[in-house]
Amino acid sequence: MPPRKSNVAKSKCALCAAKDVSEPRGEERYCRDCWEKKIAVEEIVAREFALKRYIRAHSAEKYLIYHSTIKRPCGQIIVVDDGYDLFLTIVLYPNFGWDEEAYHLEGDTEGRSFAEILVDVVATEVIEPWGGGKWHLEIFRAANPEPEDWNGEM
Ligand SMILES: [Zn+2]
Repeated sequence: MPPRKSNVAKSKCALCAAKDVSEPRGEERYCRDCWEKKIAVEEIVAREFALKRYIRAHSAEKYLIYHSTIKRPCGQIIVVDDGYDLFLTIVLYPNFGWDEEAYHLEGDTEGRSFAEILVDVVATEVIEPWGGGKWHLEIFRAANPEPEDWNGEM
């Protein structure tokens, strides 16, 4: 495979194969119309996720991740603010197809997985409301579908 050219002024859009590419900036692969269509599809896919906050502390929060296709949560998010940066940990449960393509557009070779779409959702619904700024993200895969209930008191 030849190296991908960054300046591909004459290339045609990957989706409609008719118009010249103009989007996204720097990695032009789509025409404006098709790019907007792709973004719109990603937004629809993103809306299938729901983040429900169930712990709210002064400098930390915990969310459960739900997807419209299953009843039980399919992941969780822990946010910790150390006063400077935001530290996020996402745990993905194995009860959801995180690696599957979130959508398919004919001719598009740049599909995105559900896990990638989730990161967009987290940026919009968690990181932005916390005030944005510098953030760090770790993603882990859980072996069990849901965390076990371990409770105690000392
Ligand atoms: Zn196009």
